Order: sequence, then C-alpha cells, then structure tokens
Amino acid sequence: MKPAVNIFWFRRDLRLSDNAGLYHALRSDRPVLPVFIFDRNILDGLENKEDARVEFIYETLQSLHKKLAGLHSSMEVFYGKPAEVFSSLAERYEVGTVFTNEDYEPYARERDEQIETLLKNRGTEFRYFKDQVIFSRQEVIKEDSTPYTVFTPYSKKWKAILNFPNTGYLHSYPVEKYVKNFYSQDPKPLPGLESMGFYASGRKFPSPAPDRELIRGYAGQRDFPFLDATSRLGIHLRFGTISIRQLVAEAVRLSPVFLNELIWRDFYQMILWHFPKVGKGHAFREAYEKIPWRNNETEFAAWCEGRTGYPLVDAGMRQLNETGFMHNRLRMVTASFLAKHLLIDWRWGEAYFAEKLLDFDLASNNGGWQWAAGTGCDAAPYFRIFNPSLQQKKFDPDGSYIKKWLPDFQDLSYPAPIVEHGFARDRAIRVYKDALKEL
Ligand SMILES: Cc1cc2nc3c(=O)[nH]c(=O)nc-3n(C[C@H](O)[C@H](O)[C@H](O)COP(=O)(O)OP(=O)(O)OC[C@H]3O[C@@H](n4cnc5c(N)ncnc54)[C@H](O)[C@@H]3O)c2cc1C
Repeated sequence: MKPAVNIFWFRRDLRLSDNAGLYHALRSDRPVLPVFIFDRNILDGLENKEDARVEFIYETLQSLHKKLAGLHSSMEVFYGKPAEVFSSLAERYEVGTVFTNEDYEPYARERDEQIETLLKNRGTEFRYFKDQVIFSRQEVIKEDSTPYTVFTPYSKKWKAILNFPNTGYLHSYPVEKYVKNFYSQDPKPLPGLESMGFYASGRKFPSPAPDRELIRGYAGQRDFPFLDATSRLGIHLRFGTISIRQLVAEAVRLSPVFLNELIWRDFYQMILWHFPKVGKGHAFREAYEKIPWRNNETEFAAWCEGRTGYPLVDAGMRQLNETGFMHNRLRMVTASFLAKHLLIDWRWGEAYFAEKLLDFDLASNNGGWQWAAGTGCDAAPYFRIFNPSLQQKKFDPDGSYIKKWLPDFQDLSYPAPIVEHGFARDRAIRVYKDALKEL
C-alpha cells in the first residue's frame, strides 16, 4: 500500500521557520513530505552554468536536508518539470493535499494553475498561502477597489492597515511546534549540481541575519554606495531564507526608511499580480511602447562591460559583473543612462540585470527598470534624467566607490564619454516627446 502523505512544495520560501504554507501543512491530517523541484522549465533557460543563484538554492537545500535528517525526515529533491514530478509522486504516495506558498510571477501562476488541475483530476487538493509579502493581491487597494498604481498613497494605506489594532499581519507561524509531523524516512540523496549541468561559482553569499546597527543607520547612509551600508538581504528575501514578517517587524522598530524600501517590494509584487503584462515584456504605460529605441549594439556592449566613459556608470556595471550585486543608487543611474542617454530599450537592460543580479526578482527588477525608463507606474515625468556626473559629485564625492571598482579610470586607456550629457538629454526628451505626441 502507498503511504498516505500531504506534500509541502518549497519554492521561494526555503526555510523551516515562520513559513505560512509549511505551518498549515504540518498542522494537517497526514504526515508531511517536503518536496523541492529544480524546475527544468526555468533552469534550461539559464545560459550561465555557473549561475550562483542555482548554487545558493543548492547550498540552502543541503542545509535544510541536514535539519530534516535531524528530525528523521527527508526532503525529496527533483530535477524535472513540475507536472511530471507530481505524476511520479502520485505513483509512490497517496497524496491528500499539496500545500505551497503563493508566487505572483506570470510563469509561476500558469504553472500552478496547471498543477492544480492535474492534482484535482487525481482527487488531490492544492492549497496555497500568502508568505513572501505582507499584503498581497486585493489587500491594499483604493477606496474604489482598484489597485494603486502610485507608490506614496499605496504605502500610506499599507501602513494604516498594518497598524490597525490586533490584525496580526506580522505574527510568525510557529512551524517548530509541529515538526514531529514531517513524514519519517531515511535521508534521500540530493541530485548533484553537476548532474543538472551546473557548477559552483565560488561566489560568497551575504549573511541572512539582519544587521540591526546597519538598519538603525540606514536612513543616513544608504544613498552612498562607497559606505556599503545597505542590508544585502535581497537574495534572502528572494529565496525566502529569511521571513518578510520578521524583517518588517525589525524595520518597524528600527527604521521607517528601511521599512519604506520593504513596502516598495510589496508594491511591485502587487503591481505584477494586477498587471501581469509587465512581467511579459510590456511597458506599464502602453503609450511608451511607441518609443523608437536606437538599440545600438556596440553602445550596449560598452554599457554592459562598464566602458561608457562615465565613471559612476562604469563602476556600477563593474560591481555588478564582478559580484552579482549593485547598489540601488547605481541601479537607478545605470538604468537611466541606458534608457535615456543611449536610448536603448530598457528591456535589454532588464534582461542583463536578470542574468547578473544575485537578488534578481522579476517584480522589483521590472519595477525598477520601468521607473528608470519612465514607462512605469509612478508619476515621474520622462524628462527627469539623471546626470551621471552630478550624481557622482553628490553620492561619491571623494571618488572612493569609483576607485574601488574602476582602478583604470585615471589611465589613458579609460574611454572618453560615449555620448555628451547635454546632447543625450535633449535627444531623449525629444524622442520621448515625439513618440508620445503621435498618439
Ligand atoms: C533598475 C533597478 C533594478 C532593480 N532590480 C532589483 C531586483 O532584481 N531585485 C531586488 O530585490 N531589487 C531590485 N531593485 C531594487 C533595489 O535596488 C534592491 O532591492 C537593493 O539595491 C538590494 O540591495 P539590499 O538588499 O542591500 O537592499 P536594502 O537597501 O538593504 O533594502 C532591503 C530590501 O528592501 C527591498 N528593496 C529595497 N529597495 C527596493 C526597491 N527600490 N524596490 C523594491 N524592493 C526594494 C529589497 O528586498 C531589499 O533587499 C532594483 C532597482 C532598480 C532601480
């Protein structure tokens, strides 16, 4: 007879504590089999076989595996397509319910619909929970029940709802009380990274422990890239190796400015949920689809490689290329430079960041790019164009950041500016204006 289990399917929630879906699974009527799928629909599209994010997931799974072995259980880890994996699981187990946490990306939503139908046909229930955001879907909307498309009023409502008495939005889910309900079995082997065609990159990953001192000082320091005074928690929020509820609880105590950044994260997840077209290559504002991008490939290569002749832009790109991280100020400056100064389609830059950033997250990356290109859901007029030299004076006044990432910038070989700022600014304004006028 096949063992009767419920399944918890890990995705962007790779932790055993304060995990909403896992908590509900463990409180259910059957022992819980933890499952993770290295999804071939995603992995097969990654060209870089030393992708550090795959390695990050792998290392995290190894650690979860050890913890589960200590609880006399084991995670079953697959490399395959989710529909096939669930079919094969159904041959070995009598599965009552599959529990999971919500994922708002377009691919994930389509995948989950498919899995839900497949499971239903076998008499298995599919239940999902909110876990990776504080508020999702319809929870923070306007009085007329439509979604917010501008951040400031959204953030006010977000805070107001959080502050209603006794709402419990930040309560943690005490998974640890129910761990005896994991399905008992001997540890199952994990598939090796190399068996999936990937290799270790040797990248170092930031710690998942929030640095309270840093968060306290965040407001005054976060804008200066040379201080390196941001939390570096992006990758942990992306893969759920920390809980957003715990982090927001810290932010509420320690720093309203840091809290605001976490609200931006919820905001972009909400936008992606209501406007999935943005995750499928479309501008949030349709009118901006008309911009005739120049898309000069030589200039794009110079941008990617940090050879534009604008030291701040180049330093940012080199930090990204060398470490998989780029400070937020630089993300804004480099993105604006690509879309406005070079008039290269922001989607090219978005894709480049998606390939390189360790903390890549579709919702925030797309939101950030559309913000910088002026095509997105904020009130920023397209004629606000960052001046990279002024940004440098303001945010890297003694050149520390530049010297760190651009040791060659005083050499004769360092390139002259790829385009003159005043000329590029006027050109961008003219091109944007003309494109919008045609409508
Ligand atoms: C063009 C562009 C692309 C971006 N791409 C991504 C991306 O792929 N993934 C990503 O997580 N963030 C992205 N951001 C937002 C922001 O730059 C990063 O979240 C931040 O730099 C990550 O560093 P940190 O973890 O030290 O953040 P901190 O400054 O310590 O902030 C803490 C956390 O708050 C969230 N956060 C901070 N700022 C933002 C923001 N503006 N929008 C949404 N969430 C925010 C992140 O989860 C971040 O880890 C992008 C911004 C721009 C302008």
